[in-house]
Amino acid sequence: MARLALLGAALLCALAVSTQGHPGSDEASGRKLLDSHLIRPSDKYNYRELGYDWRNAGLNNCAGDMQSPVNIMRGALADPADRTDASEIDLRGMGASDTYVIGNSGSDQPGVKINLEQDMQLTFESENLPGAQKPQIRIPKSADSLKTFTPLQLHFHHFLSEHTVNGKHFPLEAHLVMKDEDSDQLAVIGILYEYTEEETQDDPFIDRLQDLAKDLVANGASWGDNGVDTSSVRPDFQIDVRDDLLPTEGTNPLAHYGYDGSLTTPPCDERVKWFVFANTRKVSPAQMKVFADATLNAHPSAAITNNRVIQPLNQRQVYNYGVSV
Ligand SMILES: [Zn+2]
Repeated sequence: MARLALLGAALLCALAVSTQGHPGSDEASGRKLLDSHLIRPSDKYNYRELGYDWRNAGLNNCAGDMQSPVNIMRGALADPADRTDASEIDLRGMGASDTYVIGNSGSDQPGVKINLEQDMQLTFESENLPGAQKPQIRIPKSADSLKTFTPLQLHFHHFLSEHTVNGKHFPLEAHLVMKDEDSDQLAVIGILYEYTEEETQDDPFIDRLQDLAKDLVANGASWGDNGVDTSSVRPDFQIDVRDDLLPTEGTNPLAHYGYDGSLTTPPCDERVKWFVFANTRKVSPAQMKVFADATLNAHPSAAITNNRVIQPLNQRQVYNYGVSV
């Protein structure tokens, strides 16, 4: 089979808009950079080997010892009181009674772009969230170094999650990538999805996201297009992070795991504070099929999954922020 150039479709945090497929070539084509210093020409990769090959391919920092994703062992979680490099993430605006909204702010002010790709990445050009409500982390924990994080993009890894819990994969994982306004520090929120018990019970936000993608294609865009302005078909498209993305079930819905890791795509920079929620949302098999269809419509020869294989934890700890174990 001809080599694929399915490059960077998952893009955790790579902050690059993924490329269009060019079966028969391994040249990246159409790569658009949002942040050019984060991606270099050597950052060519795909998921044929689930990223096993990235460590030996000279892909920037992918051979480091603080890589992501990792397997989270619930019986081996560390006490956050012992953590010095970072505080718990302050989920301001994301609590049960809060509202944290990102989105288009009217037809003349487009705010959300989408990749009509396997990861259905949404990129936020602007947002209407007041600064006082943005998530914060103190890095390092003990210093006067409170960092405020702004959401950059949201994307999905499907059929196999990236993080696992006690060795278990989930069918879907969402990553909300956020950046400190004053440094290169990144923070990513990971949300895991399980299959619904009722096959027809869809996740409401994923329904809206997938309908948006399909309507854009019906209006002239093509699968594989990147950075498509959504305001033409959804001038009011918004994401309420609390209701649309975060878990809502369990006695402590926002309990999460935290650890220090990397981008899960090249250049694999080790500058991510990870926060993976312990409770799940639910996705239906029909919704998962849309991710598969999007992948094959954009890249007919692609592998369906877009997850990097689990990386060694090495000397790191995974901290417990309110998880009952
Ligand atoms: Zn990701």
